[in-house]
Amino acid sequence: MAIREIRMVPDPILDRVCEEVIHGTDVSHIVKDLKDTLSASVRKGVGLSANQIGYSVRIFIVDYKGQKLTLINPRIVPKSAKYPFMEESCLSVDPSIEVPISRPSRIIAEYYGEDWLPRRFKFDGFMARIIQHENDHLNGLTITGDRRDGIQKSKSK
Ligand SMILES: [Zn+2]
Repeated sequence: MAIREIRMVPDPILDRVCEEVIHGTDVSHIVKDLKDTLSASVRKGVGLSANQIGYSVRIFIVDYKGQKLTLINPRIVPKSAKYPFMEESCLSVDPSIEVPISRPSRIIAEYYGEDWLPRRFKFDGFMARIIQHENDHLNGLTITGDRRDGIQKSKSK
């Protein structure tokens, strides 16, 4: 069990695009650290990505209303013409800051689980929002950086 320090903006690891995980790699220690750190967070976060705890790899977890997911090498496909705004906060950003972000209300997420079996699910509502927020982290985007005002700028590596 390892509760890790959550990196805060402007830590440069949060701006970096995370590495794809090589298929079959044992990432159980990273997933365990993510779960331990998220469940210990006093701010009751609903998701946490690996770079937020110091691993620059494409893994994040979601823990929302009893739904617990681990997503490795995720790919997100927008499935809605609606891009509503909603105030978002982030465990890597000062708790007093909430930023309105526009995102598609429905998505398909393709990813691998910890068992390296491929998964493909449709998500909508708040769950879709959490997944997109965490996926942004893997691309080096935070709510106070390039994601501000809901404008997704192209990010060069
Ligand atoms: Zn965040």
